[in-house]
Amino acid sequence: MKIVSVVALLVLMFSTVLRSQDKTAIICGKLITAEDDRVYTDRVVVVQGEKIVEIGTKDIIKSDYKIIDLTGYTILPGLIDAHVHPLIYGDDYQVNHLKGSSAFNALRGLKTVQNWLKEGWTSIRIAGDADTQYAHFEIRDAINAGLFDGPRIYGAGHYLSVTGGGGDINFIAPEQTVIAEGLVVDGKDEIQKAIREEIKYGSDWIKILVTGAFMSEGDNPQNVQFSDEELTAAIEEATRRGVPVMAHAHATEGINKAIKFGVRSIEHGTFLNEESIELFLEHDVFLIPTVYVGEYGLETFKDSKAQSKMYELTKKYREGYWKMYKKAIANGVKIGVGSDNIGFPPNFAAKEFQALVELGMSPLQAIRAGTMVNAELLMKEDEIGSIKVGKIADLIATKKNPIDDISELTRVKFVMKGGKIVKTIE
Ligand SMILES: [Zn+2]
Repeated sequence: MKIVSVVALLVLMFSTVLRSQDKTAIICGKLITAEDDRVYTDRVVVVQGEKIVEIGTKDIIKSDYKIIDLTGYTILPGLIDAHVHPLIYGDDYQVNHLKGSSAFNALRGLKTVQNWLKEGWTSIRIAGDADTQYAHFEIRDAINAGLFDGPRIYGAGHYLSVTGGGGDINFIAPEQTVIAEGLVVDGKDEIQKAIREEIKYGSDWIKILVTGAFMSEGDNPQNVQFSDEELTAAIEEATRRGVPVMAHAHATEGINKAIKFGVRSIEHGTFLNEESIELFLEHDVFLIPTVYVGEYGLETFKDSKAQSKMYELTKKYREGYWKMYKKAIANGVKIGVGSDNIGFPPNFAAKEFQALVELGMSPLQAIRAGTMVNAELLMKEDEIGSIKVGKIADLIATKKNPIDDISELTRVKFVMKGGKIVKTIE
């Protein structure tokens, strides 16, 4: 009797353990894994804890599995935005960052990234942000500690800029001292120290403004702003610490130099030429063109005083860079989805998919650019970016198949991050 009761107790304990490892079967109407070019029907994805543990037909469902029935939906991997700035807001963003304390910026930014998660962005890479401290990493750490829902956050603390460059405030009298939204550094030594600090306070990417920018006041995107010596110092320092570099570069010379010197990604790449395309391919560098933000600027910034430079430059150069982006896509340059979202209106970021399709990508190629390609950019392709057994269960669902209408990605209906539902069908 005694042995039987011990056995019974063990069985009870074991079944309790089993029950605590509950599996959930997601019944997919259609399934795009982003692992290949197919759209699957009659598929079930089984999630346990934060991982995908089985993919198969309905007969893999056991009686004790929980069911999420998404029969009428298309399931895709969680989206990854490779270029965002959660703390920046407003067309006069270069002064807005001074209005809130770092604590306020963190609270505001948390809300922003939570909105993005609900739009389907389960991972984001911050391309440097506008806070005098590191509020965006406080957001990341609070999310990782399980205190709040939010996307996986990677990226850079700030963008490094030369004095008078795209990350400096160039419209204040010389006797005033304000902290620019970028990290202003000149010379090898300052760059080295800045990079060490960025890494110390949580950056897993270094962002450098190799050329001037479109949205900042008083500098020229067609100038290369860092010297060769400074650029080399930046890439050497980051590389020695195993941290990749993303280079904001508009000017042709800046793009080509940054690739040759060893960055992992070029942001914008506006004035890329034939040589740039060859260099991208030769050095296996990613291009994050952030195309849609230009289109948005043309629609929105016509009467904006702070963004009149951006509006004029975009109008002037749009035709040229659209032509070159098309060429880059046709030649097989690795292109990722990056929105340059600075708290723009809801569902802004997913319009980048539409822009990439207009530039010649197939809808599936664009979906892969915002999932698998970006996971590879982040060097996280073993964890995220596709729906595969063993990977983290970051999944989204749309009502229509985005292969038939890519704009459907602006209407994501269901989001699961790491096995937890963060947005459900209403
Ligand atoms: Zn940006």
